[in-house]
Amino acid sequence: EGRIVLGARVAPIGSGLVLILVDDRTQARRVEEVRRDFVVNVSHELKTPVGGLALLAEAVQDAADDPAAIARFAGRMKTETERLTRLVSEIVDLSRLQTSDLLADMVVVDVAACAEQAVDHTHLLAGHRDVLALTTQDPRLLRVYGDHELITTAIRNLVSNAISYSEDSTRVSVVTRRVGNLVEVAVTDQGRGISLSDQERIFERFYRVDAARSRSTGGTGLGLSIVKHICDNHGGEVTVWSQEGEGSTFTMRLPAALDDLPVGALAPHRP
Ligand code: ADP
Repeated sequence: EGRIVLGARVAPIGSGLVLILVDDRTQARRVEEVRRDFVVNVSHELKTPVGGLALLAEAVQDAADDPAAIARFAGRMKTETERLTRLVSEIVDLSRLQTSDLLADMVVVDVAACAEQAVDHTHLLAGHRDVLALTTQDPRLLRVYGDHELITTAIRNLVSNAISYSEDSTRVSVVTRRVGNLVEVAVTDQGRGISLSDQERIFERFYRVDAARSRSTGGTGLGLSIVKHICDNHGGEVTVWSQEGEGSTFTMRLPAALDDLPVGALAPHRP
């Protein structure tokens, strides 16, 4: 009885065909479920740092005549506050990315420049790792329609993960190249790698392979789902290849812009 908005799909089953009707109530229910899960996850994730801060504040009160202890607790409060700030700003980013009008005005973006900027931004995290942005192609081939800041954020999230989940003195490379009608950015590390079963889940919001380790590196579990949303919003995708103990490569693929348009030109159509 529901109004049909998405129309009908025809699916082959065995030798026959089955008509699947999708009504808008099913759709609305699914959207509502996703929204509810998100709110539950967000409240859960916020409770941990807020609870930690409350305990630390009590500890400071109790340590009234021990300046060394107060300094120690204050340092931990600062760390927790920074994590909380990052978490809140990533939650805001993610919910903004879920609204589709964000990319109403897409312009021509130089992806190689985004990659270089992303590598610069992660400079302080890099330690003794060699982090390199590489490309051998004409930058005119490496342009897409979209938002410079968002593409830079996506690459930066991949690079900072590559750094966080690999040892010092290894290499992280960011290779930008044109493959057919797509611009590819591949971020490769020589880190711990990711098991096949985890590879299926890491793009989910708040999913972490090792929550304790992720927390100690300041992780929120939102980085990859932000990357995925940014790629989706640009008509592209992100995939992972990984071998445990050897390393991982995350590849973003975005539809290329027409070659003769300058950076900053308004996109003639949405990808
Ligand atoms: P986090 O803030 O925990 O890094 P992400 O969404 O960015 O959250 O990543 C989700 C999980 O995927 C991480 O907790 C980590 O276990 C795994 N992961 C992401 N990138 C890498 C990588 N380059 N190498 C190994 N594991 C990774």
